[in-house]
Amino acid sequence: METAIIPPAMKDIRKLSLADLEAFFISVNERPFRARQVYEWLWKKSARDFDQMTNLSKHLRDLLKQNFVINPIKVDRLQRSADGTIKNAVRLHDGLIVESVLIPTPKRITACVSSQVGCSLDCTFCATARLKRMRNLSADEIYDQVVVIRNQAEEYFNRPLTNIVFMGMGEPLLNYNNVLAAIEKITSPKGLNMAPRRITLSTVGIAKMIKKLADDEVKFNLAISLHDAINETRSKLMPINQTNPLDDLAEALKYWYRKTKRKVTYEYVVWEGINDNAVHVEALVKFCKHIPCKVNLIEYNPIDGGIYRQASAAAIKLYQETLQHHGIVARIRKSRGQDIDAACGQLANKI
Ligand code: SAH
Repeated sequence: METAIIPPAMKDIRKLSLADLEAFFISVNERPFRARQVYEWLWKKSARDFDQMTNLSKHLRDLLKQNFVINPIKVDRLQRSADGTIKNAVRLHDGLIVESVLIPTPKRITACVSSQVGCSLDCTFCATARLKRMRNLSADEIYDQVVVIRNQAEEYFNRPLTNIVFMGMGEPLLNYNNVLAAIEKITSPKGLNMAPRRITLSTVGIAKMIKKLADDEVKFNLAISLHDAINETRSKLMPINQTNPLDDLAEALKYWYRKTKRKVTYEYVVWEGINDNAVHVEALVKFCKHIPCKVNLIEYNPIDGGIYRQASAAAIKLYQETLQHHGIVARIRKSRGQDIDAACGQLANKI
């Protein structure tokens, strides 16, 4: 009975819940409170090695080493932009690489983290879309990206990490459970204890998963990569729109707002000859009437072999002024880290 619950040798310890850890300690005739100590080392103090767990005896540390591994991510390559942005290529335990970015501004230090290795969504303007989706990241791999950037914020800027955005590689709502588990570790007092309102999840807008977020009563912010509010154009830009059209998205957003009473942010790039005229502006204004929202007009970041060009400043201004005229907050967002391919949509493991 007792031995049956000892996990197989060399199991990744961060896959265990607190209750699993307690069961382990009981199974080896140790006191269950040890589980809380280990859990705290793993998720609050971000231990990378069992020998860091100094309030455990050598015997207990050896016991853990015999049964478990910790699989931390490793920064393989760090690049710094002229504007201070840091891009990390991080190596996962199986050798795959994802990228995460530290974005400094006078008021904030933001971590932009990845949720999948590669992406399956084929958005035509995004460099990550060219990488095949290899696998989902685990909760600990997402958590580790935040810890790496939190440490870099202290080391390079002598400031704390203030915000986290899920705007790196991958589609977070296609890795729902692991993303939510990571956010739990990041926000829990037993973990990094960061406020959920400092976290933003960005999605292409998968309707049924947005409803699930609402049902799960999440407390973090939601951003939608909208880019166009006319189905025909949006489907060309983002093929996901063919099976997940704007009406479904709008319905899910209304559900979200009814349940959470929280605004959403729409991310929107204006491209020359694609959506840079009044018809598209009017469609966006109409879409913005569905629920309270704000719009971030983001700069297009050129990608290798890209077929799009950023629209003129006048076209972007037309969007901003028209939205503001209708009482919708619209900000023009400058890109960061373009020179090292660290900006939105440029993450592609380029060496
Ligand atoms: N899959 C999620 C998370 C990625 S976030 C999502 O799509 O929201 C990355 C953001 O950068 C998205 O808003 C995406 O639409 C945007 N983006 C992609 N390629 C871009 C590019 N070349 N220039 C500017 N923004 C881009």
